Amino acid sequence: MSSEIIALDMRRHQSLIETKELTKIYGRGVKALNNVSIEIRNSDFISVIGSSGAGKSTLIRCINRLVQPSSGSIHFCGTDITYKNGRSINEFRQKMGMIFQQFHLVKRLSVLENVLAGRLRFTKGLSGYTSSLLKYFPKSEKENALECLKQVGIADLAFQRADTLSGGQQQRVAIARALAQEPEVFLADEPIASLDLRSATTVMDILRDIHEKRGIPIIVNLHHLDYAKKYASRIIGMKAGTVVFDGNPSDLTRDAICEIYGSDPDECLSMAYA
Ligand code: ADP
Ligand code: MG
Repeated sequence: MSSEIIALDMRRHQSLIETKELTKIYGRGVKALNNVSIEIRNSDFISVIGSSGAGKSTLIRCINRLVQPSSGSIHFCGTDITYKNGRSINEFRQKMGMIFQQFHLVKRLSVLENVLAGRLRFTKGLSGYTSSLLKYFPKSEKENALECLKQVGIADLAFQRADTLSGGQQQRVAIARALAQEPEVFLADEPIASLDLRSATTVMDILRDIHEKRGIPIIVNLHHLDYAKKYASRIIGMKAGTVVFDGNPSDLTRDAICEIYGSDPDECLSMAYA
């Protein structure tokens, strides 16, 4: 084996993100995360499952520090980022592509402009923007943004306004915007919850493609157990802020599903597949 391949293999297996005893207590004492310790490697395609309120969103949001944990730590590439702030945390966030259920695109901008805006991460100030943003970006940036759109299969929509697109297409723009950041991990919070079955499958296929081609980990919160089982190489089951399952999809027995979703076997299976 060449040294290059050995290096790549090591990169795939070393942990990129590590949480240690991560705990989040929101106001009024709601314990959303309770001592969560997990290691995430480049080879992982993780699906985080669990009932509503189990702590799935809080876990993802603590990892990229959109939510400040109450205690415990988060390491990214060996660096403790638990208390980093300002420009320093932004540098780490840039390495984490984030996708949400509601896409969070700037509606009045074109698809291409949305992808470019993600590159500079100044989307917040753009909602009132009226003139074209394209003139502010060098050709190489536009080419890169188009390449990202090509990867999610919608380069032909580059000059269309974002709000004219279907939900599935908008989620693909959001993925392209995250790709333009050249992230080292993808964090997706219920990315298919608002989509029809066909669009949901397309979005999950794209995430799998990114994982395989770029060799970066994907962590995706999913409500649907069938999608989790179909796509993930590792499933993390959460219940009341704790990790109650962490393993292969094939080890997710009926008992394990009931442990995650509740105690009544019929009820928990209907919740898991709802
Ligand atoms: P999930 O994504 O699994 O549905 P969440 O992480 O959103 O779970 O929520 C976990 C718990 O934390 C729930 O009890 C929820 O009500 C609570 N929670 C989430 N966000 C906040 C917040 N901003 N303020 C107070 N409580 C919150
Ligand atoms: Mg959630």
